[in-house]
Amino acid sequence: MSDSYDVVVIGSGPAGYVAAIRAAQLGLKVACVEKWLDSAGKSRLGGTCLNVGCIPSKALLHSSHKFHEAASELGVHGIEVASASLNVPAMLARKDKIVDQLTGGITGLFKANGVTPVIGSGKVLAGHKVELTTAEGDVSVIEAANIIIATGSVPVEIPPAPIDNNLIVDSTGALEFQSVPARLGVIGAGVIGLELGSVWNRCGAEVVVLEALDEFLPMMDVQIARESKKILSGQGLDIRMGARVTGAVAGGDAVTVTYTDGDGEHEEVFDKLIVAVGRRPQTENLLAGDSGVTMDERGFIFVNDFCETEAPCIYAVGDIVRGPMLAHKGSEEGVMVAERIAGKHAEMNYETIPSVIYTHPEIAAVGKTEQELKAEGIEYKSGVFPFAASGRALAINDSQGMVKMLADAESDRILGCHVVGPNAADLVQQVVIAMEFGASSEDIGLTVFAHPTLSEAVHEAALAVDGHAIHIPNRRPRK
Ligand code: FAD
Ligand code: AMP
Repeated sequence: MSDSYDVVVIGSGPAGYVAAIRAAQLGLKVACVEKWLDSAGKSRLGGTCLNVGCIPSKALLHSSHKFHEAASELGVHGIEVASASLNVPAMLARKDKIVDQLTGGITGLFKANGVTPVIGSGKVLAGHKVELTTAEGDVSVIEAANIIIATGSVPVEIPPAPIDNNLIVDSTGALEFQSVPARLGVIGAGVIGLELGSVWNRCGAEVVVLEALDEFLPMMDVQIARESKKILSGQGLDIRMGARVTGAVAGGDAVTVTYTDGDGEHEEVFDKLIVAVGRRPQTENLLAGDSGVTMDERGFIFVNDFCETEAPCIYAVGDIVRGPMLAHKGSEEGVMVAERIAGKHAEMNYETIPSVIYTHPEIAAVGKTEQELKAEGIEYKSGVFPFAASGRALAINDSQGMVKMLADAESDRILGCHVVGPNAADLVQQVVIAMEFGASSEDIGLTVFAHPTLSEAVHEAALAVDGHAIHIPNRRPRK
């Protein structure tokens, strides 16, 4: 192994491995440093996303959805299932197999593209150097013309609920329950809390979600958030807003949780407790004092729009920098940085990053919410189409929710699209593409959509912006 590279990437999550591959594709000599070791001490590429994030959570969401369908939803189709039972170890084994396949796939991609994986912990030193420390404590130095920091994030811990990895777990532990807890507490009604709460709720757990804020999903469009809460509560998730957890004591085989809300102090006993109160940047032992790289007060590495840090030739991408903590956001930053290092013109459009909550139905969004447009004083028009009026949604027995499209009042340019409903992620993605091309709601209205598809709801919401929807009465019919 040579110890001098054009680019050294620290971290092999979706931000880091994508940056490394793209840089290698562009002819640069690239190494990617990764410290992640599994319980058997084997190196793992892929970061949070592949090992304990996006992929394993989606595997369990899908399995638990299948179980829930078999146990209680197929009757409507005339299919009688005598009794559906769940084999939790088999469900977890399926998830682990997918994780193994994908993390191994990154090793294959590195090989195919000529990226050198380097096992160990990386530290940025001054003067184009990365210090490498192996698990055994051996220290060496790699020379790097350019350094890309992609060290990601870790779960936030809160003093009232210390993780014991047995009864009180973070998102990683919640992917590993060996049996379905009868009563499950979740602290935090954010993306991760709702997804993991949904998994175990569908498997039969009684789930209580405690959320300190009064407003549900404040980053989502307020109308979509309200509808989502109604749907998820209808599925049995007991979501308690304004509930701030003040203590969690594990004893024997139960956790006693105390929380306060507008009515005073309360106590609940759970078999397991998931702490899902957010994630923080991973910067431990990452930067030498004279590296020249700076962080903000919350530990995010300070970068400009091009992910350049304050130090020349040192970049940072993904969860470690400002912006939404989403795998695809980090990947696109990784591509941008790799291309800029290779001398290409590249920039990133932060206005069109989609975000998705993979509950059932999914909740997805791109662009501005209605409350943001109001706050910014932007004149807008909106069109809403409920899935209850979609032939395809009824045919697949999945007709809760709606598509909401927001467009500029004057230019008609699409400003945002918000969906709670079946395949919301894929529906919003269509609008992401349209927005990238600067489309108007009329452009989508003039596009031919296959029938019967869920996508027709996007078409109808676009038509509804100007009062032309066909399959619902229009609020403001126009000629
Ligand atoms: P990470 O994926 O965190 O990777 C960072 C890597 O750097 C790690 O492998 C770490 O070991 C390594 N590292 C750190 N420090 C060092 C060092 N000093 N030396 C060497 N290596 C180091 N996002 C989505 O977009 N969609 C989803 O559906 C989704 N679901 C999620 C579900 C869960 C349960 C969780 C926890 C997260 C989910 N996310 C999802 C968020 C997503 O996983 C992150 O946004 C994404 O992984 C961030 O990518 P990253 O490359 O910046 O960092
Ligand atoms: P996210 O950052 O989207 O994963 O969401 C985490 C959620 O946890 C936020 O909505 C926080 O308000 C919530 N939260 C943080 N601390 C507490 C607490 N002590 N009790 C209840 N909810 C909390």
